[in-house]
Amino acid sequence: MKTSRRQFIKISSLGVGGVALASSAIGPVSSSSFLDELIEGNPSTNLKQTATYCEVCFWKCAAWAYTNEDGKIIKLKGNKTDTHCHGRLCPRGTGGVGMYNDEDRLKTPLIRTSVNGKQTFRKATWEEALDLIASKMKDVKSKYGAESFALLKHGSPGSHLEHLFKAYGSDTIAEPAYAQCRGPRETGFELTLGPWIGSPEPTDIRDTKCLVLIGSHIGENMHNSQVQEMSDAIDNGATIITVDPRLSTAASKSQHWLAIKPATDIALLLSWMHVIIEEKLYDEAYIKKYGYGFKELKEHVKDLTPEWAYGITTIKPEQIRETARLMAAAAPSVIVHPGRHVVWYGDDSQRERAIAMLNGLLGSWGKRGGFYFKEKVSLPKFPHPAYPKPKWGWEEIGKKYPYAEMGITSELIKSSIPGEDNEHPIKAWIIAGTNLINTVPQREMILKAMDAVEFIAVVDTMPMEITGYADVVLPECTYLERYDGIRNAPKRVPSLALRQPVAKPKYNSNPAWWISKQLGERLGLHDYFQYNDFEDVIKWQLEQVGTSLEEMKRLGVKKFERKTPLYMEDGEDFEFATNSGKIEFFSNELAANGFDPMPVYKQHPEPPQGFYRLIYGRSPMHTFSRTINNPNLNALKDTNKLWVNPKVARILGLKKDQTVWLENQDGIDSVFSIKVRVTERIRFDSVYMYHGFGQNNKKLTRAYGKGISDTHMISKVAVDPLMGGTGLRGNFVKILTEDPHKKSII
Ligand code: SF4
Repeated sequence: MKTSRRQFIKISSLGVGGVALASSAIGPVSSSSFLDELIEGNPSTNLKQTATYCEVCFWKCAAWAYTNEDGKIIKLKGNKTDTHCHGRLCPRGTGGVGMYNDEDRLKTPLIRTSVNGKQTFRKATWEEALDLIASKMKDVKSKYGAESFALLKHGSPGSHLEHLFKAYGSDTIAEPAYAQCRGPRETGFELTLGPWIGSPEPTDIRDTKCLVLIGSHIGENMHNSQVQEMSDAIDNGATIITVDPRLSTAASKSQHWLAIKPATDIALLLSWMHVIIEEKLYDEAYIKKYGYGFKELKEHVKDLTPEWAYGITTIKPEQIRETARLMAAAAPSVIVHPGRHVVWYGDDSQRERAIAMLNGLLGSWGKRGGFYFKEKVSLPKFPHPAYPKPKWGWEEIGKKYPYAEMGITSELIKSSIPGEDNEHPIKAWIIAGTNLINTVPQREMILKAMDAVEFIAVVDTMPMEITGYADVVLPECTYLERYDGIRNAPKRVPSLALRQPVAKPKYNSNPAWWISKQLGERLGLHDYFQYNDFEDVIKWQLEQVGTSLEEMKRLGVKKFERKTPLYMEDGEDFEFATNSGKIEFFSNELAANGFDPMPVYKQHPEPPQGFYRLIYGRSPMHTFSRTINNPNLNALKDTNKLWVNPKVARILGLKKDQTVWLENQDGIDSVFSIKVRVTERIRFDSVYMYHGFGQNNKKLTRAYGKGISDTHMISKVAVDPLMGGTGLRGNFVKILTEDPHKKSII
């Protein structure tokens, strides 16, 4: 199986079944009223409802799936009792049935082979494919140790494989959702207020009087109940302040849009704290009781006036003062939102710490309209023997980042490239549920690592680009065809939600729990998989908390009583989960570890002449690259556009809908082209595009070649020295009006 050079293979027609199934007969939005009537207004209709929770994104809204007499999935609807969705799926979630119907899905296991010197895939049976992976796992374990086999994962399939890996003896595990997304906010909030933010965020948007969004795109980033709560907050007269170089949907709903110069957010945050402290807009008794290091903070921000920040951020001093006063007037019912995708400039943990400190100053932690205390059900794990203790794992690989609390995907990738100083060599990967090549920046590094490792297996539902680099491809069935772990997300009200098969797995696909169990048994790990079906696991767990599979099938979602208070009482003796037990405005721990004890604004590189900062964000209709080919969602949004300020368009002579290409600061050209959108909604020093497009595998028939991949243009990262997050917003592009192969540059 070892290849001297792992060539990319386009999943060939070998894997394509003969039947091109029609996409859902139901459009994701337009026909819902007809169906509502059909389902709710006509009880004689023989539609069966089955409980599930959505996996189009990871908000995990509980839903009902409706099937007709032929077992065809007709429609998905939100579960009315679920606090993640309140009975309404977002347009992406409604289009989830397209994942099931997508005729481009992976259909059968594939094994890399060579025909006349050319690498290709051949169809394989599950037995062959699983035997091969298990033999590789045994081989790596005996030659190098189980630790040298890494798991790179995302979502539900990842958690099943994580159990397998831990049982096998490897904790060399990472997911891009940490160091390429949310990690820095967890570090910043943990150091300042105690706990991680986690998902869903415990932001009490429903009852807030003032919501501050810093580069957070609620409304485009369709996290369902959060969007619904923001809409309610607007109706209730809450003040919305949005800081963004782009007039996002949220910014357009805001009383204050602060069109900040990118990479200067820390200056704004420090200046806001200056105003609140200098004007004594904080609650003195509160800070005295719960704050640590306030005196140092006061001294730190003494000279960081709005006039100082104006020169850095381009936001006018009066607007900085006015917005700081609005926050203070609403306190403690105010939220300075931590954001979600927060890996920007490499000082992201410190920026998030500044956000946490500002919330601390406003007293919003544990307060109605600020941040509530989340709670989840105490759900026991299905019994299994203790995992063996690996000699090394993600922790040792990421040890130069003292605040890393999960695997750093890019560090695991680097550890896969042989080098003299590589203490922890990784020799093989399983990649589950993440299109690594379009998720992690620095494509060249990933290609080098994939060339070096001895074996790669990919578990996915779709022929994403990453599958082309695999030695074995395993087709996972979609969330509508499988059991998964019970959803037990912490929120205001603890609740459990069930995911069960709505339909039989299509083609020759299988669920990840089954794949993990099959591999586990081949590796002699039977004791870790003491069940026939994942239904047995769920059944046992539900019985431990006083419910049953039957009840959950009936309800879909079950709520439980809270055991702890939702908010802090005024003046109560509350201990924050920090070193000092207080809100840490000054961190002795950071100082002792050689880091700034309080956030400091530092200048970041600016775009060179003729270049613009590349900013990207979510399309409301898509989740990363994983939904771009979904027939229902692709019909709503099939490509991205390049947002360009009219001033820039004038200078470069660009017209609306003109086709252009991009070249980044390292001379990397975009593979495909993109159309221009001329709009005042983006600053003149930046360009913007939706993430996830520019797919480069022809077997994604709807997504291939449409638009540009932002990830492909990101070759430079600024690494967060605290936790290893990869800051992605320091990449600059110039706009080319001709195909870059001809190299005619404007
Ligand atoms: S927010 Fe939308 S896509 Fe995400 S889980 Fe909920 S319904 Fe699905």
